[in-house]
Amino acid sequence: MANVFKDPYEMAIEQLEHVAKIMNLDKGIVKYLKKPKRSIEVAIPVIMDNGEIEVFMGYRVHHNDVRGPCKGGIRYHPSVTLNEVKALAMWMTWKTAVVNLPYGGAKGGVVCDPKKMSEKELEKLTRRYVVAILDVIGPYKDVPAPDINTNPKVMAWIMDTYSMYHGYAIPEVVTGKPLSVGGIAGRLEATGRGVIIVLREFLKKLNMNGSNIKIAIQGFGNVGSHAALTAKEFGYKVVAVSDVEGGVYNPDGLEPEKVLEYSRKTGSVVGYPEAKTITNEELLALDVDVLIPAAIEGTIHRKNADNINAKIIIEGANGPVTPEADRILNEKGVVIVPDILANAGGVIVSYLEWNQNLHREIWTLEEVRAKLMARMTTAFNEVYSVFKEKEVTMREAAYIVALTRVVDALMDRGIWP
Ligand code: NAD
Repeated sequence: MANVFKDPYEMAIEQLEHVAKIMNLDKGIVKYLKKPKRSIEVAIPVIMDNGEIEVFMGYRVHHNDVRGPCKGGIRYHPSVTLNEVKALAMWMTWKTAVVNLPYGGAKGGVVCDPKKMSEKELEKLTRRYVVAILDVIGPYKDVPAPDINTNPKVMAWIMDTYSMYHGYAIPEVVTGKPLSVGGIAGRLEATGRGVIIVLREFLKKLNMNGSNIKIAIQGFGNVGSHAALTAKEFGYKVVAVSDVEGGVYNPDGLEPEKVLEYSRKTGSVVGYPEAKTITNEELLALDVDVLIPAAIEGTIHRKNADNINAKIIIEGANGPVTPEADRILNEKGVVIVPDILANAGGVIVSYLEWNQNLHREIWTLEEVRAKLMARMTTAFNEVYSVFKEKEVTMREAAYIVALTRVVDALMDRGIWP
């Protein structure tokens, strides 16, 4: 779906220019922020299981590190491009800044199809990629994490390869690791949980009573399923969920844990017995209070934006609403809590994992949840204040908060020499 956008990097630049205009930012600063600090392209040769040599292309982009080490995931996907990685790295700069983590933004990607590769091939690919980018990653330089098609196992290979090169265990070089090598409790649930924490804060501002709130969630993967489970924990009613195969709807509310069990068993939520089967387009148009797109980018676009009936959209996925749909929904009075704020729970808990590793500590799930709650709540309230004061959209407000932090750091440090 990455091709929904003409070019993700152009889109990221367009968003930056739009907010820079509202903020009246200096043209030179905008010129500076448009360019990544460093983009690396590497060839990754791998001897495949059949004995043949395959060469994969990999990228690592550091968008900006004025506020601290670069931070961002590594994506394995056949459609990865350098421009996509550049855009994702820029969005990470804004995401870490909006939730006030002392990090910059980075992203990595390898053009490959992990679904067609054996575990051994993936391990060789990962280790060789790490060596190719060894000089630019590091606990105080750039700390990678999982993204699409990379998981705790891949993070453990990254940690091991980096550590082998340095001669001792360095868990703080990467986050999203298994618990056995310094991973943190609550990392998997963090993004979905953060999405619902943001929703709860927003409902408080609107004086809306939680128990009547009906939610539809598109995408029932890591983010969507944990958002559903947390929504139930917080007393909201999840009436519909979907995955790439389609969705299920029960106006009286679904039992998220049962749907999860069903979809783990069958491979999809479709067919879950206590609900009616619907399409993804029908899910988006449901008469609910809150819609949480948590699948992939671009699922809400100019052709279906007008069908949406929810008054609140919380972006669990990255970039689920295209710029044209954004304009249509704003005109309809739908409030959108943007991705860089709403789905920042993952990077917040990654930051906690890095901290835990740097200090050789191990935190409990309760401690992690409390820290996540405090950081998400503060960030939401900071963005909400700008939203009210400046009468801008929540997306513009989040960008203003983020850009202000990055530009302040840039000005205080100065441009050397
Ligand atoms: P995932 O692969 O675990 O789940 C994705 C879900 O979306 C699956 O249920 C899949 O079937 C469904 N899906 C895919 N294409 C679809 C389509 N066209 N229509 C409807 N459903 C579709 O991925 P995830 O980790 O949950 O990530 C989801 C989104 O959230 C991505 O945009 C990701 O970049 C973003 N995100 C994830 C995290 C995280 O911590 N996992 C953090 C920040 C942002």
